[in-house]
Amino acid sequence: MRGKKATILCSGGAGQLYRYTTNPEVATADGIAMAYRAGAEIRDMEFIQFHPTSLCYPGAPRFLISEAVRGEGAVLRNIHGERFMERYHELLELAPRDIVARAIVAEMELTRSSVVYLDISHEAPEMIKHRFPTIYETCLTYGLDLTTDWIPVAPAAHYMMGGVRTGPYGETNIHRLFACGEVSSTGVHGANRLASNSLSEAIVFGARIVEQISRLTPLAITGQGIACRDRRPAATLQPIVERRLKLQKVMVRQVGLRRTGEGLLKGIEELKRQLPLFESTLTSREQLEFANMLTSALLLAESALTREESRGGHYREDFPDRDDARWRKHMIRHREKGILEETSDDV
Ligand SMILES: Cc1cc2nc3c(=O)[nH]c(=O)nc-3n(C[C@H](O)[C@H](O)[C@H](O)COP(=O)(O)OP(=O)(O)OC[C@H]3O[C@@H](n4cnc5c(N)ncnc54)[C@H](O)[C@@H]3O)c2cc1C
Repeated sequence: MRGKKATILCSGGAGQLYRYTTNPEVATADGIAMAYRAGAEIRDMEFIQFHPTSLCYPGAPRFLISEAVRGEGAVLRNIHGERFMERYHELLELAPRDIVARAIVAEMELTRSSVVYLDISHEAPEMIKHRFPTIYETCLTYGLDLTTDWIPVAPAAHYMMGGVRTGPYGETNIHRLFACGEVSSTGVHGANRLASNSLSEAIVFGARIVEQISRLTPLAITGQGIACRDRRPAATLQPIVERRLKLQKVMVRQVGLRRTGEGLLKGIEELKRQLPLFESTLTSREQLEFANMLTSALLLAESALTREESRGGHYREDFPDRDDARWRKHMIRHREKGILEETSDDV
């Protein structure tokens, strides 16, 4: 591969755009924002998957309680102990992720609570410990016994279906820039990823990208630095930690599981108030991450506002139905070309 210079973007997802996420701290959408600034096409940003059942307990991280627990018979109960999924979908607790997540939020609102409960206490303790050793142990760390207790859970941002648009070999619209993994939008996941497809996607496209790069002609590098304008220092800015929290709250409230045109407009307006940040010199990792989060949050919110229908991980209360006639297409955003649409027969 010597001399075959290329860049592979593999910076992961964007869960940190939301206050509650199963993603690690590093999932700050850096790759999306960097690629967008460089002129890459960003596709399908409105499709975010929320995992319905992340642990929601004081002092505990938003640890993911897998679907497999519901697959083995766990039921969801509201804080009054009522099993509620029959009011929302015939598949009950095994309905698609977006439906279960929205049903949970509806119950939380109805009961004015911040959690619902996952209950598998009716199954044999030995089976539970054997099938779910990590979940069992993790819950136990926080004093919750999966074999006897109802486990408090709530939805959390989990996976970004969209990202940097690539072709079948991970190639982007920028020569020698490839994208792989959650940062990419290969088209594999549609509007709602099926559980477990992302790791296989990353492996398949990773291998294809390496193959593609090996076919590139060697590149002579001419060491170009990035010129920086003289800008005002960032030290005077509102603390970044406060800005980040505010962004995450706006995203949960206005660009979360259930969206409306009015809410999205409000969210975009609030996000845009942070834009003067780009006139400052950003030096710390926290500042750069926040700037990338802001860019990505705006791409997401604006895409969600444009798509006036509900599909997969994108739900609009003011357009609750899927509208194939108008919206059976991808939406691409480009820094200079604006919004582009991409129709394909096998969306
Ligand atoms: C709790 C949980 C459970 C999951 N379970 C499954 C499952 O069972 N099956 C499945 O298929 N998928 C699952 N997923 C989804 C899957 O794990 C992710 O989509 C996948 O790991 C993404 O891989 P990636 O290589 O794209 O990103 P990551 O694995 O997140 O790696 C990104 C890397 O980029 C680095 N990075 C980020 N920003 C920068 C920067 N600015 N500069 C330098 N480096 C940077 C990060 O430090 C990290 O090392 C799960 C996700 C979560 C959160």
